[in-house]
Amino acid sequence: MIRLSYDEIIAKIKEKSSLSESELSDKVEKKVAQLAGLVSREGAAHIVASELGIKLVGQLSGRLQIKNILNGMRDVETVGKVMQVFEERQFSTNGREGKVASLQVADETGGIRAVLWNEQAENVKGVKAGDVVKVKSAYVRERNGLKELHLNDRSVLLVNPPGETVDVAVTLAASPQQQKAGVARKKLSELSDADFIVEVLGTVVQVFDMKFFEVCPDCGKRAKPLNGTFTCEQHGAVKPSYSYVMNTVIDDGTETMRLVLFRRMVERLLRKTEQEVLSYRLQPDAFQQVKNDILGNFVKAVVRVNKNDMFDRLELVAQEVYEASPDEEITRLNDELAAAEVNSQKLKEASKVQ
Ligand SMILES: [Zn+2]
Repeated sequence: MIRLSYDEIIAKIKEKSSLSESELSDKVEKKVAQLAGLVSREGAAHIVASELGIKLVGQLSGRLQIKNILNGMRDVETVGKVMQVFEERQFSTNGREGKVASLQVADETGGIRAVLWNEQAENVKGVKAGDVVKVKSAYVRERNGLKELHLNDRSVLLVNPPGETVDVAVTLAASPQQQKAGVARKKLSELSDADFIVEVLGTVVQVFDMKFFEVCPDCGKRAKPLNGTFTCEQHGAVKPSYSYVMNTVIDDGTETMRLVLFRRMVERLLRKTEQEVLSYRLQPDAFQQVKNDILGNFVKAVVRVNKNDMFDRLELVAQEVYEASPDEEITRLNDELAAAEVNSQKLKEASKVQ
């Protein structure tokens, strides 16, 4: 069964009606009240959609852009660029042994993790960041609130299939070992405007108040005030809904830099739902506590590096944001040290030969 989250249902209704976020949530709350105890908020949102004659799910399977992949889908086909490779590991649950590997992939519309089980995990061996992969007959599961594309023995993974391109630029690391692991990790002091997509690590040292802005409920583009009403270039006068952006500063010990988060990335970093984030527009005081809570967070982010011409400085725009794992970072440091050790050993030996 296809399962849409409350946010996904509301987003779809907004896309296909002229109702604003608040009108919609009013309708949903009314349904919940009318059907006291009989429906969840998701259920009520489904009813509202069907009363408005809105079909929530279009294509259920076949080739899809990543943003259109929904929880519960089977037989999904998609094409994406590999951002990160998580190599195969063994697991055993309930006495059953198995292998699992995964790939973080992205297309022009979003990112998703592809999880490959057992025989499929073998196929990840030759794959590296920057490769284009085509996935066929995959199914969708949700874990920790994030959708994942799962591949079993009936699924297909094609690496760099001819004729398929994905317009997402990935800056690769210099060494093949690092390339294999994913998007290049860089220190903030190493970044220049020649970088496009890189991974950075840092501590959140400053958080600015969130900015909310009016968008067209139909197309999501900016709605600008004109003669006392909000106007979308394409859709004319609209009752706007809201989107948001949050600026933070991260520090990685080499430098501090501004990290800009839009919409979903704000929700990820704050670990809040869209509804919760939207509530801070009218209750900015409630945001102060949240703001304090994320100060000092240790985060890992895949970012686009942007030159801000007005201030003549580099800024980072989050594409993915994760809570960084100190253990993982310690392992990584040790690996780097070991690799550096091997290299200097090789250099010594080479100089001896001469
Ligand atoms: Zn519009």
